[in-house]
Amino acid sequence: MYRSVLKDFIVIEEAKTHNLKGISLRIPKGKITTITGPSGSGKSSLAFDTLYMEGQRRYLECISPTLRQFFEKIKRPEVKNISGLSPTISIRQAGLSRNPRSTVATITEVYDFLRIIFSSIGRPICPYCGLEISITSLEQIQNWILSNLDGRRLLILAPLKIENRPLKDLFSDLLKEGFLRVKIDNNIFSLDDPHPLNLYHFDSLSIVIDRLIVGERAENRIRDSLELAIEKGDGRLILDPMDGSEIRFNVKGICDKCGFRFPHIGPSLFSFNHPEGACPRCKGLGVIDGSIDGQLCPECRGARLKEVARSIKVGGKSINELGDLSIKECIRFFKELTLDPLEERLSRNLIDETMGRLNMLDELGVGYLTLNRPIPTLSGGEEQKVRIATQLSYSLSGVIYILDEPSMGLHPKDMDIIIDNLRRLKDKGNTVIVVEHSPEVLLSSDHIVELGPSGGDKGGYLVFEGDIKALQGAKSLTAQYIRGEKKIPVPRKRRKGSGNWLTILGASENNLKGIDIKIPLGTLTCVTGVAGAGKSTLIGQILYPFLLSRLYGKKAKIGKVKRIEGSEYIDRIINIDQRPLTLGTRSNPATLVGVFSHIRSLFSRLPASKIRGWKGSRFSFNQPGGRCELCKGEGFIKVNMSYLPEILIRCERCNGKRYTKEILDVRFKGYNISEILDLTVDKA
Ligand SMILES: [Zn+2]
Ligand SMILES: [Zn+2]
Ligand SMILES: [Zn+2]
Repeated sequence: MYRSVLKDFIVIEEAKTHNLKGISLRIPKGKITTITGPSGSGKSSLAFDTLYMEGQRRYLECISPTLRQFFEKIKRPEVKNISGLSPTISIRQAGLSRNPRSTVATITEVYDFLRIIFSSIGRPICPYCGLEISITSLEQIQNWILSNLDGRRLLILAPLKIENRPLKDLFSDLLKEGFLRVKIDNNIFSLDDPHPLNLYHFDSLSIVIDRLIVGERAENRIRDSLELAIEKGDGRLILDPMDGSEIRFNVKGICDKCGFRFPHIGPSLFSFNHPEGACPRCKGLGVIDGSIDGQLCPECRGARLKEVARSIKVGGKSINELGDLSIKECIRFFKELTLDPLEERLSRNLIDETMGRLNMLDELGVGYLTLNRPIPTLSGGEEQKVRIATQLSYSLSGVIYILDEPSMGLHPKDMDIIIDNLRRLKDKGNTVIVVEHSPEVLLSSDHIVELGPSGGDKGGYLVFEGDIKALQGAKSLTAQYIRGEKKIPVPRKRRKGSGNWLTILGASENNLKGIDIKIPLGTLTCVTGVAGAGKSTLIGQILYPFLLSRLYGKKAKIGKVKRIEGSEYIDRIINIDQRPLTLGTRSNPATLVGVFSHIRSLFSRLPASKIRGWKGSRFSFNQPGGRCELCKGEGFIKVNMSYLPEILIRCERCNGKRYTKEILDVRFKGYNISEILDLTVDKA
C-alpha cells in the first residue's frame, strides 16, 4: 500500500465479522462517511465490531503500556487487515445509563465539575443560625501559596495558645517532638537558645513548622507542613513570607455563634451517590420507596443531599438549587457570578469547562432542561442530544468518531443541529463515520457505504461505495429511496376506529401549556413535534401512568393534568419504547422476541437434561444455575478505565459462550444452547 493512500484513507481488507462477506473498502479520512443499508445488513458489524474494535485495540496499545495485560483479551476482529487507522471513539445508542440516579448534570459530567467548584470556593452557612462561616481548605491554602508566593521564602507557623506554663518546659517538649524554632512576636528563636526563656511579656507564640522556598517541586512538602501546622495549631495556621506580614487561616469550620462544626468539605460531600453527601433518609434518591414514582423524601425534599451539603453556597446558591435551574439559567448564573481574586484563580478553569458543556447543550436545543432532570424522564430525542453534547464537548482532534444513528428519536427539524455538529467534528480534523438511514445525513455526507442487499445471511455485501452524486445514479435500494422511486406506501384506506375517544384535558406537566387532546380509539395515532415539544411528557408522564393506575391499580406518579376521560373504553395498555432494545449485552434477538423461553424448555426436555433433573431455568443466562458465574452469563466482562471508553473483554472462563461446560454439553440436533443463540434467525 502506498503511503499517500494511507494518509488519506482507512483501508479495510476482507472484513468477515458476523455476516460480512469478506468485503474490502476505503473510507476517506477527515470526511463524513455514512454507512447505510437495511437492518441486519452488517452496518454495525462493519462500523463497531470491526473498525471500532480494531481501532480500540491499537489505541490502547499505543497510549497505555500499563494496560498491556488486557491486550490479548480484546478480540481481534475477523478482518485480513485494516490500515490507516487512528484512535477511535464510538457514540452508541446504549451509552446512557438507565440508572434512576442519573440526571442531565451527572451524565454530562457537569455535576462533577460543580462538585469540585463547590468544594473549592463554596461558602458554608451555618444550618442552625444562618451565619456565614469562613473556612479555608488545605487545598485552597496550598493553591494560594503556589500561585502567590512562587519562588519566595516562606515560614509555615502553627500558632499556640499562650499559657502560664514556663517556656522552658514547652521548649523542651517541642525539641523532643523534633521542632527547631519558635516565633515569638516578630522574632525567630532557636529552641536551644536560652535568651527567650527570660521573656515574660509577649503577644504571640508560634512553632516554626517549616522553612522553604515555594515552587512546584515543594508541593508535597508544603502539603505535609500545612497538615502538621493545622494539627499543632488546632485548626489555625499562619504563613510568614518573611516580609513583615503574616497571613492567617482557619481550617476548621466552627460556627462562632452556636459552635456547629462543618465536616471536611471535599467533592464527595456533594455527591448523592456517596455516603458522605447522600441524604441519610432517602440514601440520595430524593424519593422514598426507592423508585422515581415514589414519594418525595421529607428530609431533603428531593434534593438528595445532606443538610450540610445544602448549606454550602456559591453565588448565594447551594449545589442543589443550582441543579434546579435550567441549562440556560445556569449559563446566566455563571456569567453573572462575581468572585474574589482567590476564588477566581481556584475555579476559573472549572467554570470554563462547565460553561463549555452547558453551551453545547444549549446549542443543541435542550437549554430548557433542568440540570437535575432524571435521565429516565427524558424523551428519546432529548436523551440523544444530551449524549451527543457530552461526547462532542471532549473536543479531541485526529480521531475517528463512529456514531450509531444520531438521528434516532429526533424530529427532522433537529437534524440540522446534528449535521452541524458532525461537520464541526470533521472541521476539528476528525474522521466521522455514521451508521444512519436518515436522508438528511446521507445527503450531507462526503462518502457513502451501502451494505445489503438485505438482512442476516443475505446481507453483508458491499452494494455501493461513493459520494452522493454517484449514489443518485446507482441502482441500490438506498439510491431508489433517495431519488424518491421507493416510498413507504401511504394506506389508501384508513381504519375507522371504534368511534370512542380518549380525552386529555388541561395537561400542564413540564412545559405543556394546559393543552386538551382527543385521541381516537381503535386507530394508530402518532404524536409528533420537535424535540422538547412535550411529546414524551404527554404520553410517558401523563397518559401512560394514568392508565397504569386506572387499569391495573398500580401506584404511579401522574404528571399535572386536569382530567382524562374515556379510559373505560380501554382494557389493556402496553408501553413499547426504544429502551428495552438498549438493555445491553444481556439481550439478544432471541430474548427480545420471546422465543428464548421456548428454546430453554426444549433443552430441558432433552434426555441429557432429564437425567440430571434440569429445568428450563438452568438454561437461562439471566439467573444462576447453568450460566457462567464469572461473567454472570454476559459472555463479556466490562473493564472501566479512567479517561478511556469502557471496554468489553471476552470472558475467559466460558470464552464468551455464557454457560458452564456441562450445559454446553447438552446438544439438540448437534447444537448446544450457545450455538443455537448464535444461529441466524433463518437457520434456527
Ligand atoms: Zn451556627
Ligand atoms: Zn432525602
Ligand atoms: Zn463467562
